[in-house]
Amino acid sequence: MIVVLKPNLPLDEVEKVIAEVAKLGYEPRPIHGKVQTVIAAIGDENTHHSLETLASWPQVEHVHRVQKRYKLVSREVKKGAEKDTIVKVHGQEIGGGKPLSFMAGPCSVESEEQLMATAKAVKAQGATFLRGGAFKPRTSPYEFQGLAKEGLKLLQMASKEYDLGIVTEVLSERDVELVSEYADILQIGARNAQNFSLITEAARSGKTILLKRGMNMRIEEWLLAAEYILAHGNPNVLLCERGIRTFETYTRNTLDLSAVAIVKKESHLPVIIDPSQGAGRADLVIELCKAAVALNADGLLIEVHPNPAEAWSDGQQQLNLDLYKTLVEAVKPFISAVGRPS
Ligand code: PEP
Ligand code: MN
Repeated sequence: MIVVLKPNLPLDEVEKVIAEVAKLGYEPRPIHGKVQTVIAAIGDENTHHSLETLASWPQVEHVHRVQKRYKLVSREVKKGAEKDTIVKVHGQEIGGGKPLSFMAGPCSVESEEQLMATAKAVKAQGATFLRGGAFKPRTSPYEFQGLAKEGLKLLQMASKEYDLGIVTEVLSERDVELVSEYADILQIGARNAQNFSLITEAARSGKTILLKRGMNMRIEEWLLAAEYILAHGNPNVLLCERGIRTFETYTRNTLDLSAVAIVKKESHLPVIIDPSQGAGRADLVIELCKAAVALNADGLLIEVHPNPAEAWSDGQQQLNLDLYKTLVEAVKPFISAVGRPS
């Protein structure tokens, strides 16, 4: 920590701050300038009381953190050969230089017919995971809330028939056990991305967690939410960028592709892109997927529906089965361009 003192502070006042820094467990190294004193406080900021509270003292101008607030998700913890976390789930490997992971399926599970038709089509195009919400976080209480357990059973049926892993959202702590019986990957949605009791409970299930970025979360906050999962002993985390809320109205959210580049620098965890919630428009999904692949994203989470016009949720952003096929072809050159195996 760096504690910057007010200009022209009498020496006895400087001494009081130095004494407090030492009392809080840091080794104070004052640097006396002509006008101002700066105290370099040596100590692990993640195990000591934070000195940020010293900013409330009248002698202090400001306090700067030196260390990052996250540890386990940080690249710095990975030493040796394995630089990136490779999550192993449903016989697949996600992250590092492994093949791009395609996770595709409807926004909501609606019926056996709808889910099976989608599963068959996405499997034929090489998807390895089937997505589909059984518990839906809807803005209005009058909108379709998901088929709950019946939806999970349909996902299980499709998974068995087409050998696809299941990605599905868990909305509440009380459903973690139930959803874990069916899911390979538990999705924590944007609206719950800082619900730390849900995140902790999901982490304890030992399942792989796909952690969406909240619509108003900073990258640091998103990484700290992931830190909760690792801190609870579960290393299997996929970070999913799905767009943040901005002033722009041409898209539902603003897909923050710079987050892929930043998170890849900061963290060893795999990054998944959800261009469907990101754009909220089917006509942009293919272009955004190309960009995500070019940025070295590790997977794509895409909403696909046999008949988007009749979808019970998010119809405007779901691809029909033909467009999904077009997408898979369209991203192929980008996969080779970044040197990923297919
Ligand atoms: C979804 O994947 O359908 C969904 C509701 O996602 P998000 O939490 O990103 O809005
Ligand atoms: Mn959706």
